Amino acid sequence: MLIPTRKLLAHARRGTYAVGAFNVYNLEGALAVTQAAEELKSPVILQMLPSALEIGGTALVKLCLEAGKSAAVPVSVHLDHCSSPNLMHLALSAGVSSIMADGSMHDHDTNILFTRQMVQLAETFTADVEAELGCIQGEEDGLDFGGRSEKMTDPASAADFVKKTNAAALAVCIGNVHGRYTRTPQLDFDRLAAIEKCVAAPLVLHGTSGLPEEMILQAIRLGICKFNVNTEIRMAFGDRLATLFQDNGRPELVAIMKQGIDAMKEPVKEKIRLFGAVNKAVHHPN
Ligand code: 13P
Repeated sequence: MLIPTRKLLAHARRGTYAVGAFNVYNLEGALAVTQAAEELKSPVILQMLPSALEIGGTALVKLCLEAGKSAAVPVSVHLDHCSSPNLMHLALSAGVSSIMADGSMHDHDTNILFTRQMVQLAETFTADVEAELGCIQGEEDGLDFGGRSEKMTDPASAADFVKKTNAAALAVCIGNVHGRYTRTPQLDFDRLAAIEKCVAAPLVLHGTSGLPEEMILQAIRLGICKFNVNTEIRMAFGDRLATLFQDNGRPELVAIMKQGIDAMKEPVKEKIRLFGAVNKAVHHPN
């Protein structure tokens, strides 16, 4: 069933657990995530990167919406990390429940202006905006933050930013990195605690792949309600296909589909368990 992202996050916040937001690129990805969620009776978020949306367009959004609608658990569909108003408009028109308006490349005042405008746009579709303050490092399909220096989220500015933009959720930068961690992850939990104290909106952590279990649990205790997960799922898909091709030369396309779903389900289930979201698939009355 489709449920707005804001309701999923509010429920997670009340229950001190987190909803997994898993990046999907195709039917196999959407089914891997919804099937994993159904097996564990967990809510989930299907999210797309702009690079995937540029290829899949409205058809990809509709595919995710349909997979979510027919799932037996609460699902929302979200556009991840977007700085293009055109793509945000496309996703909203196609029916996503939330978008991440990423203005983190701008200076503070321009980021406020940009985010506020995107919140106003989203409101016309009764959708919500996740914003980011600070600058997360790393690389992701089509996203490369390498040229920009890391900027941690400042708690006081974050409170002001959320008030001024009316963003429904805030992605924090506390040492988290997109893609592979090239050194042992170090998260600034004092900073996260300070942000949680003064920011009214639910908090989001990007760059979950590669974070040790204890860090994830501590982040949940300190208010993270949504974790973004991509790399571990992509790797599971790629590794399984590489083996399949090695063993079979030219596997049938249906074998690729089945194996792809099967491979991606495993890291998704592992993360749902870690996030404490098992059996949290409750009915959300409208
Ligand atoms: P990982 O690739 O590190 O899991 O991060 C995903 C992400 O933050 C997408 O926005």
